[in-house]
Amino acid sequence: MRRGFNLFSIGGIQISIHYTWFVVLGLVVWSLAVKTFPQMYPDFSRVTIWLVSIVAALVLFVSVLLHELSHSLVANRMGLGIRGITLFIFGGVAHLGKEPDDPGTEFKVAIAGPACSLALAVLFFVAYFVLFLEYGKTPIVAVLEYLWYANAALVVFNLVPGFPLDGGRLLRAILWKRSKDIRRATRIASLFGRGFAILLIVAGLFEIFVTRDLSGIWLVLIGMFLQQAAEGSYQQVLMRNALSGVRVRQTMTTDVVYVGTRLTLVELVESFFFKYRFNSFPVVDGQSLVGMIDLEQVKRVPREEWHAVNVGRVMTPISDELILRPDDDAVDALAKMLKSGWGMLPVADGDRLLGILTRRDVMTLLKMKTDLGT
Ligand SMILES: [Zn+2]
Repeated sequence: MRRGFNLFSIGGIQISIHYTWFVVLGLVVWSLAVKTFPQMYPDFSRVTIWLVSIVAALVLFVSVLLHELSHSLVANRMGLGIRGITLFIFGGVAHLGKEPDDPGTEFKVAIAGPACSLALAVLFFVAYFVLFLEYGKTPIVAVLEYLWYANAALVVFNLVPGFPLDGGRLLRAILWKRSKDIRRATRIASLFGRGFAILLIVAGLFEIFVTRDLSGIWLVLIGMFLQQAAEGSYQQVLMRNALSGVRVRQTMTTDVVYVGTRLTLVELVESFFFKYRFNSFPVVDGQSLVGMIDLEQVKRVPREEWHAVNVGRVMTPISDELILRPDDDAVDALAKMLKSGWGMLPVADGDRLLGILTRRDVMTLLKMKTDLGT
C-alpha cells in the first residue's frame, strides 16, 4: 500500500502517489478521449479532445486529493495524527496515526471528504453554467462540465453506506453511538460494504457479457477492491480491539541472546545462527545496544572473508525506527515491525537492551485473544 513516491507536503501531511495510479490516470485519459468527450462534444478536433481529456483527468486528480485532504485536516484537528496520504488506484488512502476512538470524531472525519467534493461539484457547475451561457461549447466548458459531474459522482459513490467508504464510516459511527460496541458496528457496516461490492461486481459482469460493454471492467475492479478493503478493515478493527491496552513489556521476551560487535562472521554463524536458529540478533557493545544483524547481511559477504570480518562492520546500526520502548502499544509495535521489515525488534530503555519482541510473539498473542474472545 505504501509503495509510491512523494509529491509534496501540506500542513505536515505528506502526499504521495502509488505506482498503480499512473495506470489509472492513463486509462481515465484514454476513456475520456475515446468515448466521453467525442460523444459530448462531437465538433472538437482530435487534438482538442486529447488536451481536454488530459486536463480533465489531472483536475479530477486534484479533486480527489482535496477530498482526502479534507478528511486529513479534520482528523488532525481531532488529534488523530495523519502523517500522509497515498493516492492510488481508486482514490486515496489517508494514513491514520490511530483510529478515531469515539463515534462523534469518526462522523466528523468521514463527512469532511464528501462535503468537500460536494462544494467542488457546485463550484464547477456554476462555472460551467456561466461560461456555457456566455461562450457556448468551448474546451474549458467541456472540462468544467466533466468535473462537476465527476465530483458529484464522487459524492454519491462515497456516501454509499458500506464500510470502509465514507458512507460506511458514517453508518458505523451511528451504530457505534447507539450500541456503544465498535466491533458490532464495524461488522454490520463491513457487511454492507461487502454487499455493495458484490453488487458492483455483478453489475460489471452483466455489462461486459450481456450488454457487451467493456467499461464494465471498471465496476468489477472497484467491486473487488472494495470487497478486499471491507474485509481487511474489519480484521484490523478486530486486531486493534484484541490488542488494545497491551504494552510491549507484557509481550516481550526478556532472556535475549545478543552478540558483540567484535565477533567474526564465522563465530556468529557457528555459535549463534546454527546454535539458536534465530533469523536475527541484537548487537551489543559493552552495555549499549548498537545494532541488529540478520542472515541476509552475512550472506552478502563472500564466504572466504567471514573469518576476517566482524559483526560491527556488517550490522545495521540502531536507529529510532528499530527500537521499541517497553511502554509502546503492541499494535504500534507490530506496525513498526512490519514497516521496518525485521521479524524482531529490540526493546530498550535508552540504549540498555531489555528484551526483544518478535512478530510471532504478537501474532500468537493475538490469535489466543481472538480465539478466547477476550
Ligand atoms: Zn472520503
